Amino acid sequence: MSSGPQSVRVVVRCRPPSKEELTKATPQVVRCDEAGQVVALIRGTSSASTQQKAQTYEFDQVFGPDATQDAVYSAAAADIVGRVLQGCNGTVIAYGQTGSGKTHTMCGALGGGEAWPCAGIIPRALHHIFAYTEESQAGACISLSCSYLELYNEVLTDLLSDGASKVDILEDGKAMVLKGLTKCTVSSCGEALALLERGTVKRRTAETLLNSQSSRSHAVFIVDVCVREVTSNSELVERRGRLHLVDLAGSESASRSGAVDQRAKEAGSINRSLLTLGRVITALVEGQGHVPYRGSKLTRLLQDSLGGNASTCIIAAVAPTAQCREETASTLDYAHRAR
Ligand code: ADP
Ligand code: MG
Repeated sequence: MSSGPQSVRVVVRCRPPSKEELTKATPQVVRCDEAGQVVALIRGTSSASTQQKAQTYEFDQVFGPDATQDAVYSAAAADIVGRVLQGCNGTVIAYGQTGSGKTHTMCGALGGGEAWPCAGIIPRALHHIFAYTEESQAGACISLSCSYLELYNEVLTDLLSDGASKVDILEDGKAMVLKGLTKCTVSSCGEALALLERGTVKRRTAETLLNSQSSRSHAVFIVDVCVREVTSNSELVERRGRLHLVDLAGSESASRSGAVDQRAKEAGSINRSLLTLGRVITALVEGQGHVPYRGSKLTRLLQDSLGGNASTCIIAAVAPTAQCREETASTLDYAHRAR
């Protein structure tokens, strides 16, 4: 299994400063050169020196604070969804510290209508998939099912089940099977979004019980697509593709040191997942023979959708302010290594 040179894309998105950050006039240390695909992280804030020291990083694409959800979708996810409709697997992953814009990028506003400009990658991907049937010349017919799960401390939880919600990863020959995971068949974009909302509510409920768990757990929305189409020589073809949409745990948890007990356990498993993910991506990008999928549940879970014929995009989310500089540097380093 060799992966093509563009099978993994890495992009960066810097969010705008919040109202509070603007009011307090917090110094901003991230400069995005969208045309040059370069991010600069300013090191010194000494106002005396006009020549600020900056470290620069080049990526496949860079999105500054004004980038729209539509622009990010078009550049980071649209091709991948297009390939899923052609029967390949794909993954879009948001990486970054808590508060950097991962959930805004992946989910954003879920409602349609006036809120649509704020809709993130998941609602846009679902819309894209359903629009395919409407636009298809070949009278395509699509069946689609969704699953939604959370990975916390190496335990997988089904976010769509009403009852028991523990999920296990089993290997059935070469394929990965998620035992106990609910698969909900959906026939419209609205139905799929209702599931996303339901799962997100379940995640938030667990969060209040466990004290802001969501920033320390990975959320994975899975879309299984089956397209049936008639070819120009009247043959019926069927294609199956799977799309993983991943909102990772806050990357700061991985570097948190001196944590005790529960926190240490969490930090350890987040660390393991994020480190292994980084190693898997590096192995894929460099075309190494051995890809260490087995090093964490996250990478085992994503195995079918990373490498091989699958296409992947990692979106590194960063905040613009000086307080976040260290985490921003660590996010940019991580994402840059993945290229
Ligand atoms: P994370 O999921 O990484 O913890 P969020 O997505 O929750 O971060 O973003 C933190 C805050 O910043 C939210 O209030 C969110 O609406 C806002 N935000 C993030 N990215 C953007 C953006 N590109 N444009 C406008 N607001 C954003
Ligand atoms: Mg979030």
